[in-house]
Amino acid sequence: NTPGSAQLISKPEAKALYRPRNKFSHKGTYGHALIIGGSYGKIGSVSLTALAALRAGAGLVSIYAPKCGYDILQTLVPEAMVLTDPHLEILSSIDFDLDPEVIGFGIGVGTKEETVTAFEGLLKQYKIPMVIDADGLNILSKNVEFLKLLPEGSVLTPHPKELERLIGKWKDDFDKLEKIKDFTTKYKIILVLKGAYTFTVTSENIFINTSGNPGMATAGSGDVLTGVITALIGQGYEPLQAAVLGVYLHGKAGDLAAAELSYESTLAGDIAKKTGAAIFDLF
Ligand code: AMP
Ligand code: MG
Repeated sequence: NTPGSAQLISKPEAKALYRPRNKFSHKGTYGHALIIGGSYGKIGSVSLTALAALRAGAGLVSIYAPKCGYDILQTLVPEAMVLTDPHLEILSSIDFDLDPEVIGFGIGVGTKEETVTAFEGLLKQYKIPMVIDADGLNILSKNVEFLKLLPEGSVLTPHPKELERLIGKWKDDFDKLEKIKDFTTKYKIILVLKGAYTFTVTSENIFINTSGNPGMATAGSGDVLTGVITALIGQGYEPLQAAVLGVYLHGKAGDLAAAELSYESTLAGDIAKKTGAAIFDLF
């Protein structure tokens, strides 16, 4: 089981994936993305994901968060609809009357027992693609039986620590890629390993991103990426295309933000805001 072909992703490859909008379209054309996340003290993270999803072109964005997030989210992201969990501080019983195309799960959710049970219920009930990040990944690591419930084509976006919790320690880079490939094959998912050169891995291929910079090593940067990939899936991109294009645009947005602000001063919210400039930069 050797790693398949590897491809570098820079502007021409990203441009080839990008699909321009149709003049005779409406917000329904661009999908309803549901962002599920947050807990007391971590509501800001979900706002970044939702904002990034809107900046990446989602037709509609809804957020499902604990009650304590209601006023905060309605204020920070007025374009998004906000639904609340009955629990004040954490997700405890994920239940909504919506028909989204895609779900982004895990940002700031914590790993409390009620949340774990609620996530299991979500996985059992919904078979639409999911983008899973942050504590969503940590929950999967501690409850590996949930991995079999992931809808095919779901995208997991770990940073190296989250990856280690998911697949265990690796001996060297080659071993790491083998383990990731086995994992993606077993669960039929797409794995985005975040870092200076983010790798998007499937059972067949590896895509190595070339955009991005150390200014993106900042709180909330990954939460923005989740929003971008979720929005692209909602717009009808295949999950793999959404992951590869989303990672490129996110990195480019970080490059454009840092060009104005410096690496040090770039914030996750700036990356979200520059998503549009990253799309323009394709042309
Ligand atoms: P997270 O750790 O979940 O906040 O994700 C961090 C995000 O920033 C990922 O998309 C990384 O690829 C990106 N990032 C972090 N450090 C760097 C770096 N040194 N160069 C390029 N991208 C980075
Ligand atoms: Mg993260």
